[in-house]
Amino acid sequence: MRKKSVLSFCLAAVWAGLGFAGDVNILCSTFPICQITRNVAAGYAGAKVELLLPASLGCPHHYSLTPQDMQKMARADVLVVNGLGMEEFLGAPVRKANPRLIVVDSSQGIEGLLPYAGGHDHDEPAEDREAEHEREGEGANPHLFASPRQAAQLALNIAAGLAKVDPDGATVYEKNAKAYAARMNVLADDMAAEVKKLRNNRVVQPHGVFDYLARDIGLEIVAVTQPHGQEPSAAEMLELVRLIREKQAGAVFTEPQYSPKVGQTLAREAGIPTAVLDPVALGPADAPLDYYETAMRKNLETLRATLGVNP
Ligand SMILES: [Zn+2]
Repeated sequence: MRKKSVLSFCLAAVWAGLGFAGDVNILCSTFPICQITRNVAAGYAGAKVELLLPASLGCPHHYSLTPQDMQKMARADVLVVNGLGMEEFLGAPVRKANPRLIVVDSSQGIEGLLPYAGGHDHDEPAEDREAEHEREGEGANPHLFASPRQAAQLALNIAAGLAKVDPDGATVYEKNAKAYAARMNVLADDMAAEVKKLRNNRVVQPHGVFDYLARDIGLEIVAVTQPHGQEPSAAEMLELVRLIREKQAGAVFTEPQYSPKVGQTLAREAGIPTAVLDPVALGPADAPLDYYETAMRKNLETLRATLGVNP
């Protein structure tokens, strides 16, 4: 327990009135957002950080809340979310589970958002892409977390949001977030420097998960194989092979949350390498705090091994 001064005792009483009783219960929607939040709250005894969705789920694009999820939300004081439409299951159910739950949107105010073009290549007419956005209800790509440069921003946003809710922890949140953001920016710089040395920077991805990473470190996405999770038809496979050849892609990347079968078939047909690249959308329930950094450093090795390095 923290030592409580008279002032913090009074604050605790105020918090209790708002639904806080002692420690702040921070709930995070997804695995990557939880990992960033755990880093932001590291070493601070006044906050408990818990993950709402299963760590092994990956992107919750088609997720429905369970009764257990509702119970977790009922117990929480704060819910840190990915935002940008990633959590379509939120809204009314959250208010029903816990009307006092404060939502911190980690992507709020981040500039340079990319469209969520899904599986569309860049030659597609813009009006088609816009129609797609309207169908999905969101215009922006929600996968900021997969780029260290954006993870830095997410951490600062999360710290600012938590500081408002829990002023006692503000100093720690801010200090941790700044240190984390600095590490993420070094990581992004390292990745960008290494990508410059690659023989080929044109890649194929399963869904829009790597758009920010690609932009921020200098990769070019030339095709998307499973924009909405489902497998392409035979005709779509042929079109993808044609596109991969035409754009001279260097590799087809798969991701841990989808079966690698489609990517492997495409790579074989097109005669180029394939490998798993990890956006860290999922991970082990007991992931260490530096899990993301380790995974990104491994991604860098994968990029070098599959795309080749200039002599
Ligand atoms: Zn996704």
